[in-house]
Amino acid sequence: MPEPAPLGEFDRIRRHFRPLTANSPGALDLTDDAALLAPSAGHELVVTVDALVESVHFRPEDPPDLVARKMLRVNLSDLAAMGARPLGYVMTTALPLRCGEDWLAAFAAGLATDQAEFAVGLLGGDSVATPGPITLSLTAFGEVPAGAAIRRNGARAGDTVFVTGTIGDGALGLLAPTGRLDFLDEEHRRFLADRYLLPRPRCAVGPALRGIAHAMLDVSDGLLGDLGHITEGSGAAAEIDRDRVPLSPAAGAAVAHDPALWDVVLGGGDDYELLFTASGPVPPMIAGVPVTSIGRVVAGSGVRVLDGSGRSLTVAASGYRHF
Ligand SMILES: [Mg+2]
Repeated sequence: MPEPAPLGEFDRIRRHFRPLTANSPGALDLTDDAALLAPSAGHELVVTVDALVESVHFRPEDPPDLVARKMLRVNLSDLAAMGARPLGYVMTTALPLRCGEDWLAAFAAGLATDQAEFAVGLLGGDSVATPGPITLSLTAFGEVPAGAAIRRNGARAGDTVFVTGTIGDGALGLLAPTGRLDFLDEEHRRFLADRYLLPRPRCAVGPALRGIAHAMLDVSDGLLGDLGHITEGSGAAAEIDRDRVPLSPAAGAAVAHDPALWDVVLGGGDDYELLFTASGPVPPMIAGVPVTSIGRVVAGSGVRVLDGSGRSLTVAASGYRHF
């Protein structure tokens, strides 16, 4: 029996990507030259893009559904960081020939799972073949009431610094396969590895902080490096009390056993938690996500980390990324 001929580009798009547009009327079933997108009256569009390259941003052995979900989630996290609500996304996939129907089906299934979880849909995109590594790019669109986007440059001396969720899990999770965390029990190692592969964008928290947060971003480069982006943009300095940085039980066990891992927790990236400053009261829980005060904005420049007695600590390698 002859082998079935590989699907052409249009068939592949029809089979795997068109179902992802089911809840996006502006996608026009992918039949036209472009998609239509109408923000609510009185709102601004918020646009963000991320590219992922195999062996740079993800490992060749990472499952395609998780790669897809992470790509969508990091973009949703950027929208949340601006206080925006997601509207939809467009995507380009450049795939080597070895990515066959199974790869594409798993990739699309990952997107379908997260579209349902975060109530977004595909609006359009492009698919090409490449002789190089898998290369993906996703552009997400969101909306905020005009003028209400939360930027990085609004922190003022006297503000409190807050962070959602827990810090360090993603960067520690990246270390899990290297053996450096073999002292942890299996459950903790699995938790950390999962947090690296599948970040939790704080899509409901970001919009809830409009009118509360003075400056905000999502922690992708590392807590200290990203706080440095806020202080630099705002012309201020910040002090972090290391003992107040919220840790998961797994990350807590890691630094208790090997205090050198504090550098990874504070300087590593891939947290995708929201880091913001505010001067008024902030609820300890927003949309089911804990919010913790970890320090304050002060006059000057730079970011300092203090121990329990207020002494400055040195933290190596802030803002490292990739592997
Ligand atoms: Mg960001």
